[in-house]
Amino acid sequence: MAKYQIHVFCNECFETHPMGVLVDLNDGPADKESLNNTYAGKELPSAVANFINNKTMCPNTRKMFTQTDNDQIFLVAVSD
Ligand SMILES: [Zn+2]
Repeated sequence: MAKYQIHVFCNECFETHPMGVLVDLNDGPADKESLNNTYAGKELPSAVANFINNKTMCPNTRKMFTQTDNDQIFLVAVSD
């Protein structure tokens, strides 16, 4: 298992923000990759699917947003 952060592209300020969660995955990317590229043609792991509907607060605009485009949601490997 490797640990990953979930980062989401923000439609408010056009930067990418961490959702502040860590997920354990067996089949995640080596570095950073979008959900669509990582799981092309496959079902999302529940560890990821459980989180991606959560709202993220944009630290720049203080607005809450939900990113629904799996091309704009990224898994980022966390090194131990
Ligand atoms: Zn933002």
